[in-house]
Amino acid sequence: MHSTASRPLRVALSVAAASLVLSVALAGCSPTPSGTLAQPASAGGSVTESAAGLTDDDGYIPDGSSLPLDSDLPAVSRLDPDLLSALKDAQDAMQGDSSGPGITIADGWRSERYQEHLFAQAVQEYGSEEEAEKWVKRGSDSAHVRGEAVDIADAGAMDYLNRYGSEWGLCQVYANEAWHFELRTEPGGDCPAQSPDGRG
Ligand SMILES: [Zn+2]
Repeated sequence: MHSTASRPLRVALSVAAASLVLSVALAGCSPTPSGTLAQPASAGGSVTESAAGLTDDDGYIPDGSSLPLDSDLPAVSRLDPDLLSALKDAQDAMQGDSSGPGITIADGWRSERYQEHLFAQAVQEYGSEEEAEKWVKRGSDSAHVRGEAVDIADAGAMDYLNRYGSEWGLCQVYANEAWHFELRTEPGGDCPAQSPDGRG
């Protein structure tokens, strides 16, 4: 009797655990704030540093902040030049004759140290490296570490790239990450099918 009575509770607990896991996984690659302690970005050029000691040199961008495509900070300047140039061309087309809002980056190039920090956070949350590897990539396995991926900050730009990005070869890669773009086709080509599991 005890085992049958406790079953619904176990199911409820595992559902709660799964949604926690999902929200943490998204936080690793998400432009939405996730509670990381950080100083606000400063226009005065002072170094931004996270609670974990990550800085501009790691490509660290505080939650809630974003960078324009002409930023000289490493998160943008160390992106693959082809990716950056495709994004700038898309931005020009998006803005047209107006000087509307451009494309801003919530996450771009990341150091391996930064990626390992995200992985270590995932290990803490999931309890094992094996489980964490299902959700967060390690080191240069991440397209962000290779400078080949950006997470778009602005919803309007995200929407524009989702509609027209393939004109410049820009594709949404993961079905559950509307913000994560990589060069995945020739300009004007068709984007490959989106992968269901985002762990960029
Ligand atoms: Zn991403």
